Amino acid sequence: MKIVLLGTGSPIPNPDNAGPSTLIQTGTSNILFDAGRGVVMRLAKAQLIPAMLHGVVLTHLHSDHVCDLNDVITTQWVMAPSGTNFKIVGPVGTKAFIEGMREMLQADVGYRIGHHADLNEPPKLEVLEVLPGDKFTIGDQEIIAGATDHRPVDPSLGYRIEKDGESVVIGGDGVPCATLDELVKGASAYVQTVIRDDWVKSIPNPRLQDILDYHSSVAQAADTAQRGGVKALVLTHFVPPLSKETEHEWRELASSFSGLVVMGPDLTTLDVTTMVVS
Ligand SMILES: [Zn+2]
Ligand SMILES: [Zn+2]
Repeated sequence: MKIVLLGTGSPIPNPDNAGPSTLIQTGTSNILFDAGRGVVMRLAKAQLIPAMLHGVVLTHLHSDHVCDLNDVITTQWVMAPSGTNFKIVGPVGTKAFIEGMREMLQADVGYRIGHHADLNEPPKLEVLEVLPGDKFTIGDQEIIAGATDHRPVDPSLGYRIEKDGESVVIGGDGVPCATLDELVKGASAYVQTVIRDDWVKSIPNPRLQDILDYHSSVAQAADTAQRGGVKALVLTHFVPPLSKETEHEWRELASSFSGLVVMGPDLTTLDVTTMVVS
């Protein structure tokens, strides 16, 4: 399996970091987790178009994780053969969110159906809402959902993907909790969104301070990884943006984890089979 950090950014606009999205390639399925700002451009850089995805899985409905899902849906629809199903999985609330998105796209859908003789139906979306503990399939890959703690964002989910003795956990946003620990246990790689609490605390902006109470700090992510005995901790959703100059500070903050710590710019890839980072 491969983990591709398509977008390592956060809601804070930054020209070099697309919004949160992670691609898991199992060898037979391409699965997109979250669809943040610029995701379709980053997919293209990874040599993929949305029509090559087997589905999208959402961790939660915060705007930074879903704001470019409309682009994924539209581009899949116009580039895949007419009538191709597209699966979208997420927590409760996803169906209403997608319905709203369909309404938002109504004019464009009408224009394109009117213009192209071979395009005669709107995007064929198969939307599935899942609960913690549920198992579902994207492409040929089974995925398990688990609860995360990102309150007041509720529900929010993490996911575990297992194939050929390898396992990847997508932790999403949130603070450490027992159900995340359960999901992470013994995984080959654990992908966690992180913020640097030391940096946030140094900025005198009350709205920014609020993000501390529902995101894992780098140290908390490292502690979760260590408790879970995972082989690799993959950091993403960097607040503030990661740079070559500051990478050693992030590594220092993650020092309670004794395994491989992976971080880097957009498109950083971990081959879970070989544990090689590229
Ligand atoms: Zn969030
Ligand atoms: Zn986020």
